[in-house]
Amino acid sequence: MERSAKALLVYERLLGAYGEPEIKEQRDPLDELILTILSQNTSDLNSGRAFQQLVERFPTWEQALAAGPDAIAAAITVGGLANVKAPRIHAILQKLAREQGELSLALLAPMPVDQAREYLLALPGVGPKTAACVLLFSLHKPAMPVDTHVHRVAQRLGLVKQHDSAEESHALLEALLPHHLYYSFHLNVIRHGRQVCAARRPKCEVCPLADICDDFAERNRRPTP
Ligand code: SF4
Repeated sequence: MERSAKALLVYERLLGAYGEPEIKEQRDPLDELILTILSQNTSDLNSGRAFQQLVERFPTWEQALAAGPDAIAAAITVGGLANVKAPRIHAILQKLAREQGELSLALLAPMPVDQAREYLLALPGVGPKTAACVLLFSLHKPAMPVDTHVHRVAQRLGLVKQHDSAEESHALLEALLPHHLYYSFHLNVIRHGRQVCAARRPKCEVCPLADICDDFAERNRRPTP
C-alpha cells in the first residue's frame, strides 16, 4: 500500500478507536517552548509540576533571566535533568533578550511555518520535536512532532523506514498527510503507542492496525516449506 494511503488509513482507524483528541490548552509560544524543554525525558505530570514551580518562583521570564541558570535549576528540580534543562532555558532567554530586546516569540505568529521552524531550531537546545510542539500546539501551524511513541509506531507500521531517525521522520510523516490532520494524528498515535503499541510488548491481538502493520506481517510470516 502506498505510504500516504496507509497514513490516512491509520488516521481514520485511530480516530475510530480513540475519537477526536481534545485540543490542548493554547499557551503563549515562549511558555510552550519552555514547557516542552521541561518535558524532555520526563512524564507530563513531572514536567507540568516543574513548569508550575518555575512560573511561581519567577512570574516573568525577565526575572528568570536575571536569576540565572542555578536559580532556574533549583525551581525545576521536580522535572528531572534540571542541570541540563536550566542552562538551556537560560540560554534561550539570553538569546531572545540579546537579539530581540524582549522575551517573546510573538514574532513567529505571522511567519510561514518553515521560517518559524528555522527560527526555533536556531535557539539553543531546540531540536525538531520541540520546535514542532511549539508550532503545532501554540501557533496552530502545520507541524508534526515525532516523539519516541510516534517514531516507534510509524516504524512498525512502515510509514517510515527502520533506518529513518526520529529527526528525519518529522518531514517524512508531514509529507504523508494533509496539514489539518496533523494534530489528531499526532495525539492519537501517541495514545496508541502508550496503550497498545508499547515498546516492549505491543498488544497486536487487539490492535486495529494489525492488518496494515509491516512489523506484524513480518513477525507472522510463515517460513516457506
Ligand atoms: S500490529 Fe502490533 S506492532 Fe503493529 S501497530 Fe499494532 S500493536 Fe503496533
